Amino acid sequence: MEKWKIEMQRSFRKPEEIVRKFPHIDLNSLRNITSIFPMRITPYYFNLIQVIDDPIYKQVIPDQRELEDFSGVPDPLNEEEQSPISGVVHRYPDRVLLTVTNVCAVFCRFCTRKRMVGKRAITINNIKEGINYVKENQRIKEVIISGGDPLSLCDENLEFIIKEIRSISHIDIIRIGTRMPCTLPLRITPSLCKMLKKYHPLYINTHFNHPRELTEEAKKSLEMLADSGIPLGNQAVLLKDINDDAKTLSELFRGLLKFRVKPYYLYQADLVEGTYHFRTPLGKGIEIMQSLQGNLSGMCIPKFILDTPGGGGKVPLTPKYLQKVLPEGVLLKNYQGKTIFYPEVNSRGEKMPFENIQLAFDFEEIIKGDKKN
Ligand SMILES: *Cc1c(COP(=O)(O)O)cnc(C)c1O
Repeated sequence: MEKWKIEMQRSFRKPEEIVRKFPHIDLNSLRNITSIFPMRITPYYFNLIQVIDDPIYKQVIPDQRELEDFSGVPDPLNEEEQSPISGVVHRYPDRVLLTVTNVCAVFCRFCTRKRMVGKRAITINNIKEGINYVKENQRIKEVIISGGDPLSLCDENLEFIIKEIRSISHIDIIRIGTRMPCTLPLRITPSLCKMLKKYHPLYINTHFNHPRELTEEAKKSLEMLADSGIPLGNQAVLLKDINDDAKTLSELFRGLLKFRVKPYYLYQADLVEGTYHFRTPLGKGIEIMQSLQGNLSGMCIPKFILDTPGGGGKVPLTPKYLQKVLPEGVLLKNYQGKTIFYPEVNSRGEKMPFENIQLAFDFEEIIKGDKKN
């Protein structure tokens, strides 16, 4: 059997296994939590934990607070309702999300699909119906293969799905979302890469949240994918007391870029049931983005994204750079906080009035509010 499959099988899923390693955890409490929100941790990822409550520990070890959160809902993004058939989420005109498995190597405690990961099984029939849906909808140009973690499927099953999608003539782009380079880098094998590169243009978005996850093993797996011609992006989640400061995130984003991964999105943690203790105030993310802009290579600055409740889609939030609209141009704030005038001129160099005013929301109030807390 392949090494990654053995590692998958050896994942910690039983409360007893965790209590043996961390005797301070109450066994009954852990049983309660995992009966509602299952647990799964690969030995590789577990071994990255250095001390109790460190940024790795917090991402995967269940916490009593998961059962004490009444602010979140099971499905804040309204995925179930925007699902024309089981396993497909069709929110935007040109792309769909296809969930092909409910299994991941590691169950992140802040997961946005906490309602289904490790619980509801997805059948091959669901997947086939999903692919048929894509076939019948000419407007769809891109399929995002998601889950669960699609790379928890074996190469053969994964290839069956990718091959079917690639055979649809109106599909340009195949995108895979996977956390395997972070949680089980052994999954990235030469045979997987050889298979994937047959189906270009194929993109992979991975998921690293903390510089401590950027190990030699992770580096090797990412290099193998990049060497197979697969452009790599990263989707991180802003997590309270894990990575919610500019220093940690700049280290993460710089490190990712060195591993040839372009930071794509930084997400505000969704309003998912059982994840309240991970959430940061909205102003926090904006504040962090503001301190990164200009100080860090633009290549490694992601967009800060809110996935809006009810399935309204993703909305990027930016610091307020446009300070004031004047009759002859705009006042901008640069990365050093300096105010700079930018004139609106026509082809003859004459001044003209600024048009199409679309000011962003004023988040300065929110940021101010946070600082008080
Ligand atoms: C996030 C998401 C996408 C992809 O959005 P991009 O902005 O293109 O990365 C597509 N469909 C659904 C349902 C999503 O949640």
